[in-house]
Amino acid sequence: MSQTILHHSVTTLRGVGEKLRLRLSEIGIYSLEDLLFHFPLRYQDRTRVTPIGALTDQVDAVVQGDIKGAAVTMGRRRTLVVQIGDDSGLITVRFFHFRQTQVAQFKTGGRVTLFGTPRRLAGKVEMVHPEYRLGDEANLLEPALTPVYPTVSGLGQNTWRKLCGQAVALLTKSPPDDLLAGVTEDTITLPEAISFLHNPPPSASLEQIQKGTHRAQIRLALEELIAHQVSVLGVRDNERRFIAPVIGRDSSLSQALFTSLPFSPTDAQNRVGEDLSHDLAQNHPMLRLVQGDVGSGKTLVAAKAALDTIASGYQVAFMAPTELLAEQHFSTLQSWFAPLGKPVAWLSGRIKGRARAEVLEQLANGEATVVVGTHALFQEDVQFQRLGLIVVDEQHRFGVHQRLALADKGADGQHPHQLALTATPIPRSLAMVAYGDLDCSVIDELPPGRTPVTTTLIDHDRRDAVIKRVGAACRDGRQAYWVCTAIEESDSLHMEAATATLETLSAALPDVTIGLVHGKLKPADKANVMARFKAGSLQLLVATTVVEVGVDVPKASLMIIDNAERLGLAQLHQLRGRVGRGAIESHCVLLFRPPLSMTAQERLKVMQDTHDGFVIAEADLRIRGPGELLGTRQTGLAQFRVARLPEHEALLLTAHNIAQQLHQQDLPRAQALMTRWAGPRADFARV
Ligand code: ADP
Ligand code: MG
Repeated sequence: MSQTILHHSVTTLRGVGEKLRLRLSEIGIYSLEDLLFHFPLRYQDRTRVTPIGALTDQVDAVVQGDIKGAAVTMGRRRTLVVQIGDDSGLITVRFFHFRQTQVAQFKTGGRVTLFGTPRRLAGKVEMVHPEYRLGDEANLLEPALTPVYPTVSGLGQNTWRKLCGQAVALLTKSPPDDLLAGVTEDTITLPEAISFLHNPPPSASLEQIQKGTHRAQIRLALEELIAHQVSVLGVRDNERRFIAPVIGRDSSLSQALFTSLPFSPTDAQNRVGEDLSHDLAQNHPMLRLVQGDVGSGKTLVAAKAALDTIASGYQVAFMAPTELLAEQHFSTLQSWFAPLGKPVAWLSGRIKGRARAEVLEQLANGEATVVVGTHALFQEDVQFQRLGLIVVDEQHRFGVHQRLALADKGADGQHPHQLALTATPIPRSLAMVAYGDLDCSVIDELPPGRTPVTTTLIDHDRRDAVIKRVGAACRDGRQAYWVCTAIEESDSLHMEAATATLETLSAALPDVTIGLVHGKLKPADKANVMARFKAGSLQLLVATTVVEVGVDVPKASLMIIDNAERLGLAQLHQLRGRVGRGAIESHCVLLFRPPLSMTAQERLKVMQDTHDGFVIAEADLRIRGPGELLGTRQTGLAQFRVARLPEHEALLLTAHNIAQQLHQQDLPRAQALMTRWAGPRADFARV
């Protein structure tokens, strides 16, 4: 094999001693080939000088000009401020950390070259801590794009450039195995593609690279996506090898549930229920995701599967990501199951001591047939007598590994069936990446009688008018949510924001009964407030985003979301889904504080324009990128290295098909792909 040199340790390179070797090994880089596949995260364009007047906000650039003046200001912190000008404009440069000698360097009339990130504020341009060189000859220009590598503390960009540069120099002499040979038709060889990304030639266009459309990127992104799909198939195969209990369909229990309901299931619910019955009747674990927009009635579909499972003599664990949502499921399922003689058990992190021991005992001896809970169900000491089905609601909040942790809890070496529910209708491409191990059913129909929600954007300046409108609506017999957000994701900050809002609203609307619910409330108090709101004795509910998922009060028809610009699209969509559940026409007001960033503007506009969860999810993917959309923002190193979504969405289907082919016909090659792209870094499929 030609590529043996590439399997040599990084220590064969100049400048790599024991210390650096250790540091690299910590992030999974051992061999020269590992270095080759450590690709830049992005590139800087230092190939040309940009006139100050042509700088774009937040786009790194090289600037050249004359020093117009420098001074140390003593505001909140000591700052060195330098004014620099060229023919096209002026820029202000600020240094917060500087030495006295630096102040003297910036002599008025001298020439300076800067490289940094410009910020445009109120017609002015600023750079904070740019790189700079002084003098006429000063030059920060490079002939080609400058790569910026993903890194960890203590490893500078220069180190990466030197190391990767040395590895790239070996490419022609000893190219890495072309693992896609004969599988795809390449327009660029693997060494060419690798070398392009590490050292883009002067002709390379940053714009094209940013779009991800260069042949080199496509070649490598495809390989990476294939590697990912191969590992997802492996996870799935592994799970499928286990034996699962065979569950009879349409038990008398589930039929009794349907008879007891005041409504009939929608066609979509019936169709998805049919998918589940089919899967459950197999003797290997069902791995299915049910996708359905908020309010589409996923709970009922899961409940039917649960009752059939119980009727066949097995237990069911129903898991939700937040306490409030779990409580909601608990009360829904309890009201459906208890009359059928199947009471529901409850387990959350807050259940402790004797109470917890009792629940654990009942699960272990089989006395409890259904349990609803939070993450607490994952815990090692939770044992089941005959676990047959796991239902995981809002799957995107959990990782694949958490779901699989429960899969080990079956009895007699059997594995339970798995049903994941998600209201975040993620685009198909992303579903393949995130839930590639799951079969997918979609509830694409809402129960009849829902009314669309009218959404309005209102400037925070007019908050008082909105409060009046809420008061009038409540006096009119309507119920409303007032959702508060905090700047940071923290329970106590959310609570503060909500508490302050409660005070304002109580003062402004003394005749309206107002309740408060937030994440720090005791479960009993929370349940109490929710019950009063549901019963109508509270007219207005001030809440943090804890009401985001699952809360179901059909009579509430008005929702105000304060500082809506702080929330992501998925969250806004979920929140808005709390209204429009009854027959009354519903309204959602998004209160925002200007100035809005471009992305915030775009998000709010999407909310105003559409209700379609899929359209919203596509927009979310476009605006935010997949990491955040899945709620699992990954560290730079654990992300895809070359592939990007949605840019490379079009490659996914091809990648999936090739992965399937390799998985079935060429396992060694599939394995080699996984090793190359996942390496020892992380378990690849655990997105
Ligand atoms: P989601 O898919 O958002 O989890 P839920 O399961 O919470 O939705 O259902 C939302 C509401 O719709 C609940 O009050 C539920 O009882 C009701 N529901 C479910 N299916 C139907 C149906 N076929 N007809 C009328 N109402 C339904
Ligand atoms: Mg739900």
